[in-house]
Amino acid sequence: MRNNMPENEANLLFCQLLENNKKIAEKKQDLLEKYKDGQKPKIALITCSDSRMPLSLYGNIEDMMGNVFVGKDIGNTYEYSDAVVDYAVLHLNIPVVVILGHTDCGTVKAAAGNFEKETETIKERLSAIKKSFIDKENHIECVENNVHRAIQKIEEKYKDKINNKELCVVGCVCDTAGAYNNLCGLTYIVNINGIKDKETIKSHKLLENMEDGLKEKTIAK
Ligand SMILES: [Zn+2]
Repeated sequence: MRNNMPENEANLLFCQLLENNKKIAEKKQDLLEKYKDGQKPKIALITCSDSRMPLSLYGNIEDMMGNVFVGKDIGNTYEYSDAVVDYAVLHLNIPVVVILGHTDCGTVKAAAGNFEKETETIKERLSAIKKSFIDKENHIECVENNVHRAIQKIEEKYKDKINNKELCVVGCVCDTAGAYNNLCGLTYIVNINGIKDKETIKSHKLLENMEDGLKEKTIAK
């Protein structure tokens, strides 16, 4: 018997996601069983909660499972994901931490405006993001500077590990709005260990297996 709750898109989607999950769990049991006793992820990813950046933009379950340790918060605000970074670096010995911002980020836009009426928790994040603004009218610059600020904080905290080449911190921007080059969803590298110069980034060891053509496309000027 049908209940009285109206069928709306959210209800349908929730049921669909659980159905998907059951199918995937059954189909990928061999892969999932490998990780039933633990994980050894290789990359930590701190990103925005925005739904336009699902991990499936970067690969399938085989790429992600047991490999990518994720922290999401509005505006990928470092100050509210720092425990994720600490845990990744100190307890999981993850060698690569990625800070991934994105264009058309509502949180970054809100930080550029008046946010006095927001809740305390939202205000805390917006205040932190606002510290990185130089020109608050330039949205891409605000997004990039929010990423640079996070990298700087991690660099300060884990200077020795970075100098000993035990840790690499990478700043990226996913272009959800197609603002860099009209290709929505393409990700650009904007910073590696504090380095922002395109040519120096190109020759960084982290990218030694990346094709030159891809480097040209995905390293932001
Ligand atoms: Zn966002």
